[in-house]
Amino acid sequence: MIIAKIGGANGNNMDNVLVDLAGRQDYLLVHGGSDVVDQLSEELGRTPRFITSPSGVVSRYTDTKTMEVFTMALAGKLNTQIVSRLQSLGVPAIGLSGVDGGLLLGKRKEAVRMVDNGRILLVKDDHSGTVEKVNVDLINTLLGAGYVPVISPPAVTAEGKLINADADRVAAMVAVAMKAESLLLFTNVPGLLRVPGDPSTLIPEVPREKLEFFLNFAYGRMRKKMIAAREALDGGVQSVVIASSQVPHPVEEALNGQGTVIH
Ligand code: ADP
Repeated sequence: MIIAKIGGANGNNMDNVLVDLAGRQDYLLVHGGSDVVDQLSEELGRTPRFITSPSGVVSRYTDTKTMEVFTMALAGKLNTQIVSRLQSLGVPAIGLSGVDGGLLLGKRKEAVRMVDNGRILLVKDDHSGTVEKVNVDLINTLLGAGYVPVISPPAVTAEGKLINADADRVAAMVAVAMKAESLLLFTNVPGLLRVPGDPSTLIPEVPREKLEFFLNFAYGRMRKKMIAAREALDGGVQSVVIASSQVPHPVEEALNGQGTVIH
């Protein structure tokens, strides 16, 4: 089984990935959609805000209103678009947010630490968190009935509160829970680059024991992908590929080792 994750940042070619996946039988799909969330926020008059943690990881500041926009954009708009596109390609896709059937059960962070002008502040009204349990029975039931799940955040707490969970890390959790052989993280760059912005500096391979070293090259949201890769490998997934969605056959190329292969 392959878990494919598509990013939502500008410059991604989601359709290439969907067309390539449509010919396969052995996958399920997870998606994020940072750009769609930003766009909808702007349209609703709310400028997106981001938090940088002391270790340099950037995440969306998700207050209660932003959580609503996040859900509208991901589970409402983008998930429906992806599912309808896959259906037009002959795939019996079924869209699920992490809330449906308690698919992605997690915990909200009590408080998030952020760096602001060199000082560390505590943010208490942030709805982000992490997934702790994946409802594998639900996924297997759907796969067994011939459906292809298309999964998006938000996740949900046991108390029924929505959580903004990072889609790369959700994909890693799903890959571990499903005992997938590979996790493919498609994005708008060819993989992890030594010099961000310069595709000729692609790092083709990262062995698990050198992951901490190569984490030094990843900034901003690329750090989340490396952290997701570490979680997937430590959970038993054999390989994670950070790969471009911009090439004509992204899935085939990633499985052939194009991109950054982390193993
Ligand atoms: P997606 O929505 O496709 O998942 P993200 O914006 O979350 O994409 O992550 C990809 C981005 O990470 C790149 O577009 C780039 O701006 C940034 N980045 C930071 N460090 C690196 C690096 N070392 N190599 C490649 N990209 C990097």
